[in-house]
Amino acid sequence: MKNVIIIGGGIIGLCSAYYLAKEGSKVTVIDKSDLLDGCSYGNAGMIVPSHIIPMAQPGVIHQGIKWMFNAKSPFYIKPALSLDLLSWLVQFYKNSNQNHVNKSMVPLRNLSFFSKELYQELAKSTNEFGYQEKGLLMLYNTEKVGEEEIKTGKIAEELGIEVDFLDQQEVKKLEKNIKVNALGAVHYKSDAHLSPNHFMSFLKSELNLMGVKMISNCSLLNFKVSNEKIEELITNKGNFKADGFVLATSSWSVEIAKKLGIKLYILPGKGYSFNVENLLVKPTIPSILCEGKVAVTPFNNAVRFGGTLEITNNNDTKINIKRLQGIVEKVNQFYPEIKVDLPEKKKVWHGFRPCTPTGLPIIEKSQKIKNLTIAAGHAMMGLSLAPASGKLVSELIMDKKPSIDLSEFRST
Ligand SMILES: Cc1cc2nc3c(=O)[nH]c(=O)nc-3n(C[C@H](O)[C@H](O)[C@H](O)COP(=O)(O)OP(=O)(O)OC[C@H]3O[C@@H](n4cnc5c(N)ncnc54)[C@H](O)[C@@H]3O)c2cc1C
Repeated sequence: MKNVIIIGGGIIGLCSAYYLAKEGSKVTVIDKSDLLDGCSYGNAGMIVPSHIIPMAQPGVIHQGIKWMFNAKSPFYIKPALSLDLLSWLVQFYKNSNQNHVNKSMVPLRNLSFFSKELYQELAKSTNEFGYQEKGLLMLYNTEKVGEEEIKTGKIAEELGIEVDFLDQQEVKKLEKNIKVNALGAVHYKSDAHLSPNHFMSFLKSELNLMGVKMISNCSLLNFKVSNEKIEELITNKGNFKADGFVLATSSWSVEIAKKLGIKLYILPGKGYSFNVENLLVKPTIPSILCEGKVAVTPFNNAVRFGGTLEITNNNDTKINIKRLQGIVEKVNQFYPEIKVDLPEKKKVWHGFRPCTPTGLPIIEKSQKIKNLTIAAGHAMMGLSLAPASGKLVSELIMDKKPSIDLSEFRST
């Protein structure tokens, strides 16, 4: 039996704990928070095999620069004199090309479908987290964006992803109960969604049942290393020993990895979400409002609206009202019957997506520290890819052949 400590109790850390405990390991999760909120809770809950094109892609820099000058746009980079930011931007620039997209699409698709299979398995026993397979509508209301979405949809179709191309009338037929102002949509039929808050509760109760120890308000401060192995974790709650360690601390991993002499490129991409409850009319299928990159997810009693990606630092918890207005305006344009008001700041959730400059997550055994596995940098797909990432982490630690090829999911 292996004794494993996971640093970071977000969805990636908890899924890793789940599959390691299933393999019979003795697992402890430590997290500096109270394990009740954070990026893995307030996100849009979409499971997206449709997302085969990584964030680093041709044209993204040009579009990003245009958005930087629009206060309500979905994207912003907070200027800072930081070496981490500069080196991340250089890497991002290097990866934003067609060659990178071509070699990323199949590995991403495989990781996504593997993850969805695991979600289906998890939902079989007790679907208390509202897992539903209704697909995802990429709604657009301009010809230009429509063309881009259709082009992406055709590439996805070639890779075996189930796609429907809908015109205005077909969108209407699908979403009968609510008016949708869209020229058309690309319907990714194999996408799914769930309630992230409920999924995190489900994971924690399963981990409790399996005897996994979860220690909240426990910050990793440093490591004791000898012979290229971590001997002990030094935390504010004492020192911990184990055979294996998992680093699942999102963009905080950069500073933590530095203590081990490991260079990671991950920056926080701040995003917002808010729920509107008891709507008289609401969409039934999750959607992305493409012109504003706004995510709309219907849950039982509420609809969650989320968006914006502000590359910033982990201390920047400010809610930017202009960007929130951008979200609200797009929702009211696409779904005029909902009539969303600008939410009060205190009702707005924010989270930091861990963004790598490749747009691909890191799932690897460290090349420098023999008993360390890294699982971080899942950006806007952390929920979608969590079960697969957790399962792969457990396979790496148990020295099993990984279920899928991990060569594109490396830090270097
Ligand atoms: C608005 C928005 C919408 C999104 N929608 C979706 C979606 O629809 N689908 C999807 O797949 N993804 C979505 N995402 C992305 C998804 O939420 C993230 O990719 C995912 O939550 C990242 O999980 P994680 O476990 O890597 O990080 P986190 O959940 O951030 O967990 C990392 C943990 O590490 C802990 N930690 C940090 N430093 C230390 C330390 N020194 N010691 C101990 N613990 C430490 C932190 O406290 C934290 O709990 C969205 C994100 C946002 C912001």
